[in-house]
Amino acid sequence: MSFIKGGSFLINETEIKDVFTPEDFSDEQRQMAELTRKFMENEVVGKVKELESKNWDLTVNLIKKAGELGLLSFDIPEEFGGLGLDKTTSILVSEQISMQGSFAVSFGAHTSIGSLPIVYFGTKEQKEKYLPKIATGEIICAYALTEANSGSDALAAKAKAVLSSDGKNYILNGTKMWISNGGFADLFIVFAKVDGDKFTAFIVERNFPGVSSGQEEHKMGLNGSSTTTLILEDAIVPVENVLGEIGKGHKIAFNILNVGRFKLGAGSLGGAKNIIPVAIKYAKERKQFNKSISEFGLIKHKIAEMGIKAYATESMVYRTSGLIDKYIETLDKNNPNDVLKAIEEFAVEASIMKVYGSEILGYCADEAVQIFGGYGYSEEYPVSRFYRDARINRIFEGTNEINRMLITGMLLKRAMSGHLPLVQAGMKIMEEVMSLPSFEEEEETLLSTEKKLVSNSKKAILLVAGVAIQKYMMKVNDEQEIMASIADAIMEVYAMESALLRTLKIVEKRGEEKSQLHIDATKVFINDSIKKVENYCKNVLAACSSGDDLRIQLAALRRFTKHLPINTIELRRKIADRLIEDEKYCF
Ligand SMILES: Cc1cc2nc3c(=O)[nH]c(=O)nc-3n(C[C@H](O)[C@H](O)[C@H](O)COP(=O)(O)OP(=O)(O)OC[C@H]3O[C@@H](n4cnc5c(N)ncnc54)[C@H](O)[C@@H]3O)c2cc1C
Repeated sequence: MSFIKGGSFLINETEIKDVFTPEDFSDEQRQMAELTRKFMENEVVGKVKELESKNWDLTVNLIKKAGELGLLSFDIPEEFGGLGLDKTTSILVSEQISMQGSFAVSFGAHTSIGSLPIVYFGTKEQKEKYLPKIATGEIICAYALTEANSGSDALAAKAKAVLSSDGKNYILNGTKMWISNGGFADLFIVFAKVDGDKFTAFIVERNFPGVSSGQEEHKMGLNGSSTTTLILEDAIVPVENVLGEIGKGHKIAFNILNVGRFKLGAGSLGGAKNIIPVAIKYAKERKQFNKSISEFGLIKHKIAEMGIKAYATESMVYRTSGLIDKYIETLDKNNPNDVLKAIEEFAVEASIMKVYGSEILGYCADEAVQIFGGYGYSEEYPVSRFYRDARINRIFEGTNEINRMLITGMLLKRAMSGHLPLVQAGMKIMEEVMSLPSFEEEEETLLSTEKKLVSNSKKAILLVAGVAIQKYMMKVNDEQEIMASIADAIMEVYAMESALLRTLKIVEKRGEEKSQLHIDATKVFINDSIKKVENYCKNVLAACSSGDDLRIQLAALRRFTKHLPINTIELRRKIADRLIEDEKYCF
């Protein structure tokens, strides 16, 4: 069975049948999402004030309740007490849990970064000992990588591990910072350097001698999630609790962050979708100038834009989970190494989901505050909490700056290693640019203009990436602004294409008339995205070339980015009217 390679969206056309969309969810996947939604609505959302009073017993009990429903076990193999479900189900759960930011972080620290290191890197004995209790919530996990002086540069950690003289234990010293679930977790995945230089992961139980946690941090948001330091003072950790190989901790840290990003993308989407109905409801109720503010064009613009952006994000989030699940089908789903390999293959897409999702969530939270006006600035209303809670998503699981560097950097690496034929694709674009443009009229069909714009955007990106590489060669990685502009254009094209393919698939199923909302959203999104892609590409060219070279390159770029603007005002009003009528995200 063949599978689509990670990152290949940039050079290949994807067929509609090959794209997974939320309309393709199975009954089991829908049921799991519904179960999670009900759990959140009935058990968690109403208790936010109590959670924010730092009642950690409540958080622990809620995690255990989630365990009773099976919500902690989807990534844990069946033989160790889990459900071993597909990745789409796993992120559908993450999406639903994210309707409450603080709880989502507690839940994510346990089910994702805190326990997956054991799922993917643990020995059989470690899995047998810990995973069944993690699946029920009897043991709650945390992940301790960051230190005061090593955040993005995680491998610069100072925490040290030394083998005891009897060879039975490692003695750990150091302080880990910003540890989610720090106040109540029973088990920590701790990264420390054996003999000060071999970066290694350890499974550290709270009750091991020398382990303690510090005071709660006073944070901007997420006040119902515990964040503390983890203090290791001659902490005694049995040698059996080394996770993976000595000196290979970076493999665990980076792979787990990669999974975390994939889930955070879905979580951010969930947060954005949760904000939309709150903003719409208020806009309908709030009267100014004898009208509901939802009747004003500028408020409609905001509501439509939130919906459109969430639609594009949702399309790429589930397209990615579908790609991972499809790849896993070609491997052994019970073999953790295979599952990890599949997730790693789509590391570029995972970083895109993290950056794009967290920035769309930030946009929706910000616009929701604006729709609430002064009341949005008050603690009495929920949107100020949404705003504060959303902000962290651009910082943790690798900051958005680091992830932007990763997106372009990983693609370049794959090109250089021959894993992806990006260089060949770039050369074909150069040939196209040198040839005369075709003036043949192409037949117009539904969304054919948008399809062309997506395909041309890819060519534009390959063109400018080629120019940047020619100028800087291997040193291009040091040109961060160029790397980030290329990453921004790549993210935009992945979002454009995902929305387009999903809409075409919906039209195939339901017909054009019943798909109008999706068609309109896709048109507006692509109309706006192509301008962004053009701008990112121009910035790169202007940084790499000047004079006649620049003029020639800009003319080539124009061939790919030229487009007639559409009436987005009219379309956004239509989209907003539908969202306002339904009072929810109704795609
Ligand atoms: C609420 C919360 C919960 C957290 N939970 C956990 C947890 O459970 N476990 C855990 O281990 N950690 C956790 N963290 C830590 C988090 O992962 C780090 O804060 C994050 O990785 C950034 O590190 P830093 O804060 O040291 O920022 P820095 O690395 O100092 O970055 C500061 C700024 O510099 C930029 N920057 C840094 N390096 C580069 C570069 N090479 N190029 C360009 N720009 C760069 C960054 O993008 C950022 O804008 C949490 C943090 C918070 C606030």
